[in-house]
Amino acid sequence: MRIINAQVKNNAELVDITIEGGRISTITPSALRSEEDSRADDYDADGRLVTPQFVEAHIHLDYANTAGVPRENASGTLFEAIDIWADRKTQGFHVKEDIKAKALQAARRAAEHGAGFIRTHVDVTDPTFAGFEALAELRDEVREWCDIQIVAFPQNGIFAYEGGQKLISDAMSAGADVVGGIPHLEPTRDDGVESVKWLFDLAEKHSAPIDIHTDEIDDPHSRFVEVLAAEAAKRDMGEQTVVSHSVAMGYYSPGYMARLLPKLAASKVRFAVCPNENLHLQGLGFQNPVPRGVAPVKQLTEWGIPVSFCQDSMNDPFYPMGDGDLLRILDSGLHVSHMLTADHLKNALSFITTNPAGNLGIDNHEITENAPANLLVLDAHSTKEAIQRKASVLLSIHRGKKVLSRKPEQVNWNV
Ligand SMILES: [Zn+2]
Repeated sequence: MRIINAQVKNNAELVDITIEGGRISTITPSALRSEEDSRADDYDADGRLVTPQFVEAHIHLDYANTAGVPRENASGTLFEAIDIWADRKTQGFHVKEDIKAKALQAARRAAEHGAGFIRTHVDVTDPTFAGFEALAELRDEVREWCDIQIVAFPQNGIFAYEGGQKLISDAMSAGADVVGGIPHLEPTRDDGVESVKWLFDLAEKHSAPIDIHTDEIDDPHSRFVEVLAAEAAKRDMGEQTVVSHSVAMGYYSPGYMARLLPKLAASKVRFAVCPNENLHLQGLGFQNPVPRGVAPVKQLTEWGIPVSFCQDSMNDPFYPMGDGDLLRILDSGLHVSHMLTADHLKNALSFITTNPAGNLGIDNHEITENAPANLLVLDAHSTKEAIQRKASVLLSIHRGKKVLSRKPEQVNWNV
């Protein structure tokens, strides 16, 4: 197929994008196309923006659409959510087919908003492995329209939860793609440090990347991010290491940040930041001025450290909202990070396209010749307009195949 009159990267000159064999075969100026050159499978973008498909780099699909069962999160806190989740697992609500159906619903919503790639954390501190098995099946079943990566995530810790080390090892042996972790919830600070080292060993054993829930706590003394960066640097694994959340960074002193940022940049670690959810969870019940609870994305970006904006949860005990809509997440992320300047806006889609593609190890996630044809047509004529108007996805193509399309919204004024 061919997408004609497409705008790429805010360039004024429109282009025609030809897709063959799952790849972008040619990109040529639309102005050079002759009048007679019209094909039955042409899609006329009419000057609209074509971008790489969105990449959701941090979500919990096994938790999706479980809010309210066995009970609502009355306090709204992260810790009550963890308790509710533990109760779900022990009270018989954690059933494979149900998890799979709810996760599919969530993945479809994300795809409708333009996602073609998802990295989902899946709780493996559950001896039944119901969530892991559900997501492993789903990963195979949706391959045609979405690539899913599974992070073996020990929600209750590898030391804090009895048998945690064996469960995460078993999940990696059973086909999980990425090693997860949660050092700030291990019994002590020393246990947390020990867990990071142990998880890196596990990742090395499986030649797998690593993606750790890091310092997701309103505590300036939670500093596992430096442990992660040091360990990644020592093992030359920075590019395969993702620091997820890292909200405690929002509390660090300027003196400590001045020491930390160069070390993070040198280690080559990457970040996954979830602005909407952490704005909800962090600082809950604090006196004014309430902290923001989001990692300092602007500083990280200015240090050349790749950051992705991510959804995290969809309608679960941790977060009652969430629609898998990465443009909405990007909008919040740019606001809370004070990044609405023209320079930052110009490149802002990289937070939900190329940066998360790097987290997932996806090569060549660009609109260039020979790149895999994973792309979107957005109902907008610039990056700024796409974010400002939360543009709808008019066409989504995954591996050269049309996944879904919709018509531009039409409003009929009656006055
Ligand atoms: Zn998370």
